[in-house]
Amino acid sequence: MRPFDGLQDFVRTDVPMAPHVWFRLGGHARFFAKPRSLDELLTALRRARESSIACRILGGGSNVLVRDEGVDALVIQLESPFFSDVKFESNVITVGTAVPLTALISQTARAGLAGLEALTGIPGTVGGALRGNAGSRQGSIGQYVRRATVLDAANEVHVRERDDITFADRSSNLDEPVLLSAEFELAPEDPEAVVRRMRRIWIIKKESQPYGHQSSGCIFKNPAPDVSAGALIDQAGMKGARCGGAEVSDRHANFIVAQPGAKSDDVLRLIDQIQQRVWQQFGYDLELQIQVW
Ligand SMILES: Cc1cc2nc3c(=O)[nH]c(=O)nc-3n(C[C@H](O)[C@H](O)[C@H](O)COP(=O)(O)OP(=O)(O)OC[C@H]3O[C@@H](n4cnc5c(N)ncnc54)[C@H](O)[C@@H]3O)c2cc1C
Repeated sequence: MRPFDGLQDFVRTDVPMAPHVWFRLGGHARFFAKPRSLDELLTALRRARESSIACRILGGGSNVLVRDEGVDALVIQLESPFFSDVKFESNVITVGTAVPLTALISQTARAGLAGLEALTGIPGTVGGALRGNAGSRQGSIGQYVRRATVLDAANEVHVRERDDITFADRSSNLDEPVLLSAEFELAPEDPEAVVRRMRRIWIIKKESQPYGHQSSGCIFKNPAPDVSAGALIDQAGMKGARCGGAEVSDRHANFIVAQPGAKSDDVLRLIDQIQQRVWQQFGYDLELQIQVW
């Protein structure tokens, strides 16, 4: 018997990953599931465990680089309506992790709830944003979280309360295999003021980041709170540097953009070159912010 026999209507075999990630690069996933309910998710996870197949949860794919060799795992994308519920109760919103962050920001802004507009322009889902505490100088998602519902390694559903959740610079301790939903508490404010702020942040983002290119956000973490990885790469003279079809963005040096014909391997080689150059010139060991699968 094969690992996912009987589950063919939501688990597929040998699925190209490039269309699912913002870099538009990389090989195939050995298995790819889009569960439509908690039951389907649990069944897929159980079958994977019985066959010793690793699992990876994919959100919007805006922070993942898939290797050219592909992913020897079951990739699970919680895309169905079941994982995309949004419930408003006064200034508290409960949100499924498959909800696109931009959709949540527009809904809360229009409802006159302030806070999440600080994340305007960040692609991906609520799940990916929670995992990596997505944000910018204007604020991060973690500061608005009241609790999160997660699925642990034993496939048990748990609620993690705020006191037990730590958010840091582009990271969180929400490290359970699957994040299912989260509750946010926002501040009531005039909707027009929130929408105006949202538009202002969008203009700044568009000017400073290479939207419209194949990329994956900032490649490296800042090595210290007051040291920007992008500034180091820029000062190392690497804006515009290329490796095959991968190029350091001339708009934001911490972004690598994939030009036509690029391979994931080009991006990985360019990452290597940047790390070496920044180490040699400034003594900083740049750590990856993106996930390499
Ligand atoms: C043009 C561009 C601009 C960007 N600007 C910013 C920015 O300003 N600030 C910023 O912080 N980021 C930025 N990013 C990076 C990226 O958008 C964020 O990291 C985003 O939050 C990732 O969300 P995602 O749903 O795409 O996650 P994915 O890329 O799909 O996954 C990222 C990680 O989260 C995990 N994950 C996703 N969903 C779940 C879940 N439900 N349960 C468990 N684990 C999960 C994945 O397994 C993976 O480890 C940018 C990216 C791009 C392409």
